[in-house]
Amino acid sequence: MLCIKITANVLVLCDKKTYEIIIIKITGAKSFSTNGFYATHCVPSIIKYPNMKVQILPALQDNYMYLIIDEASQEAAIVDPVDPDSVASAVQQNNVCLTKVLTTHHHWDHAGGNSKLCKKFNNLQVYGGDDRIEALTCKVKHNDTFNIGKLQVRCLATPCHTSGHICYYIAGDQDPPVVFTGDTLFAGGCGRFFEGTADQMYKALIEILGSLPDETKVYCGHEYTGNNLKFGKHVEPENEAIRQKIEWVRIQREKHNPTVPSTIQEEKLTNPFMRVHEQSVMDHTEQTDPIQTMAFLRREKDNFKA
Ligand SMILES: [Zn+2]
Repeated sequence: MLCIKITANVLVLCDKKTYEIIIIKITGAKSFSTNGFYATHCVPSIIKYPNMKVQILPALQDNYMYLIIDEASQEAAIVDPVDPDSVASAVQQNNVCLTKVLTTHHHWDHAGGNSKLCKKFNNLQVYGGDDRIEALTCKVKHNDTFNIGKLQVRCLATPCHTSGHICYYIAGDQDPPVVFTGDTLFAGGCGRFFEGTADQMYKALIEILGSLPDETKVYCGHEYTGNNLKFGKHVEPENEAIRQKIEWVRIQREKHNPTVPSTIQEEKLTNPFMRVHEQSVMDHTEQTDPIQTMAFLRREKDNFKA
């Protein structure tokens, strides 16, 4: 069963095998959005680490927002809150104090909820690396740090998808490191080069994100994993890690589970854009230089039909 449409009081379900359509009318609900059910591309889920919780919140068609909670102080921050109503529900349910917005980049499906969220919560600090970001209050640059309670966040500038794109990295004492990568690094892929070059994406993926510890959990901006891995398989038909992950993703998505977080290690094994030094990937692109390989892969992926 696959949800295909959701409005204020109607839910349309389509059976994937028979294409039978079921329409469910919901009564007594103000709207799905204010009840936290606005986006249904996955079920919201909470990942618990010793000192930190990350709540995965689906938004729009395939976006992810992430509520980060510091366990010690119950202070929270939200990454890319495009659906402020859903964020407000999650903050209320967790009974935490929301103080910060971490914006990865200025595109509307990431930053478009900032102003509305600032009206719902007093004194929110809005972080980001680009003056075009809605309601920005704290402009950051590479290696700037700030705290969410006791959690220290490090800003990683990764220009290319947009010129002001920032990834946010948190490495605690007992928790595994985590990184919120917006539209720079996806599970199995990377963002389009709207305002940058292959050279910049190489720096972002190989030199900056690729040098984080292998066990770093990767929380990206969209649920694109399935299609990304199909492209990965096209690039490297013999890659066993890709084959296995495609099967895992299929099972996860049938259950409407998110495919995040990935890890830096998994990306090094399955993401062609992080594998531009591999002979098999360079052979596919008929390039000998990793940056040229990166450029070729992006052009090919832009026209790839999964
Ligand atoms: Zn974007």
